[in-house]
Amino acid sequence: MTAPARAAAPAASGPWRVDLAHPADFAAFRNTARKLTAAGVDPRDVVWQVAQEDDAPRGLFGTGRSVDALPEPTPETAPRAPRAFLSLAEAVVCHNAPERFALLHRLLARFAAEPKLLDIASDPDVAKARTMAKNVARCSHKMKAFVRFRETTDADGTARFVAWFEPEHHTLDRTAPFFTRRFPEMRWSILTPDRSAHWDGETLTMGPGASRDVAPDGDINEDLWRTYFGAIFNPARLKVKAMQSEMPKRYWKNMPEAELIAPLIKSAASRAEAMVAAPALGPARSTRIARERRSEADAVAALGDHFETLADLKRALGHCTRCPLHGPATQAVPGEGALDAPIMFVGEQPGDQEDIAGKPFVGPAGQLFDRALADAGIDRNRTFITNAVKHFKFEPRGKRRIHQKPSISEIHACEAWLTAERRFVRPRLTVALGASAARSLLGRTVTIGKMRGKPLDWADGTPGFLTVHPSFLLRLPDESARRAEYDKFVADLSRVREISVATGL
Ligand code: SF4
Repeated sequence: MTAPARAAAPAASGPWRVDLAHPADFAAFRNTARKLTAAGVDPRDVVWQVAQEDDAPRGLFGTGRSVDALPEPTPETAPRAPRAFLSLAEAVVCHNAPERFALLHRLLARFAAEPKLLDIASDPDVAKARTMAKNVARCSHKMKAFVRFRETTDADGTARFVAWFEPEHHTLDRTAPFFTRRFPEMRWSILTPDRSAHWDGETLTMGPGASRDVAPDGDINEDLWRTYFGAIFNPARLKVKAMQSEMPKRYWKNMPEAELIAPLIKSAASRAEAMVAAPALGPARSTRIARERRSEADAVAALGDHFETLADLKRALGHCTRCPLHGPATQAVPGEGALDAPIMFVGEQPGDQEDIAGKPFVGPAGQLFDRALADAGIDRNRTFITNAVKHFKFEPRGKRRIHQKPSISEIHACEAWLTAERRFVRPRLTVALGASAARSLLGRTVTIGKMRGKPLDWADGTPGFLTVHPSFLLRLPDESARRAEYDKFVADLSRVREISVATGL
């Protein structure tokens, strides 16, 4: 991945010239910067050039002096830098500013006299490097969110998913490992103008950049995305600036759903007026399952009609005996959150701590969920969070109460309460966390791996999204698997947020 820095032929005088193999060639930069600093070369006397950066002043200084002539650093001469500098430099190297290498070299040279330099936030070099690192982090986040793979076929007949992406900075090298964790079983390639990444299910290989015309244009999944995006777009809540900040225009051309944005924005005002003028209707019911369940769902929904407020509903819930779970549990745990929340999250059931507190998602899984929401940029206070089953199902073991999965009949019995909560909140997007929640909302058993992260409609025709339950992450035995799954979970929640912002939820 990282070819060593290639110095030009020696010359008697003039600036030192370093050619790097690619724009994010951190390993070569690091080795060369150490060598230059150990030899006491003034950072102002070095010209850093990158093979693929068109605006680099190639040839401006002739051949320059060769760093090959400099001695390797010894333990005595090697520059010292705080550990934090390494991660800062790894990010800054990916920035698109041509001066990034000189800036990092200058910082490295200054540590000898100013070992606490990174603590001085007002220092212009430090401030600039931190801003650049932030830009790179944001760019990497956008890549995770807006890469869209199109299905193609390799020469051996196996499927390969190829994405074309034009990042603002050189972030492919640092972001590609995320996609190996996100899509470990898929063969994929991500092509950008200056780098490409290829995953064969086992090995990640980085290669040179590509041009747009070698990437495929579309596949059958794109209609699905467009339909979904159009279905959940809420013209009454459209905030064009917020949407464009979240989903910058530069990425639109590679996103199938983006072609709907302009017409949806254009028609937003008239659609919002029509929404206001239209009589209140229940959600559409279009699927066979929905038809089969209609009479039952109507009866269930009538539960909600008996209550004027959510507090009334909660009081009634406390007396529910529709299934045996009410017996051993401490109390029923209703959902909570904003009554006008655009997004509702539905978990499985309360856990041990939720059962005692009477509040959803306050135990270890809830805390993990809070962290993931924050990492995905979702404000929990603007959501409504509940469970498919309102009483804790457990098996006593000594002093402990061990969680038990609710049965289909228990999920079914409790569906009345979830439906009633949804009638109060009327979320535009309902996110199922795990298979039990999906079972309740869809009326059938689902395989999470197959449906996760894809647009779907719940049985009542309302827009949905499915991801794992946070307790799944807590059950994973090893740390690296937990970290990988956490990344995937945050990516799913980030998608939820992007959908909600982009569609004005
Ligand atoms: S789990 Fe649901 S249906 Fe069963 S008793 Fe509790 S509230 Fe009622």
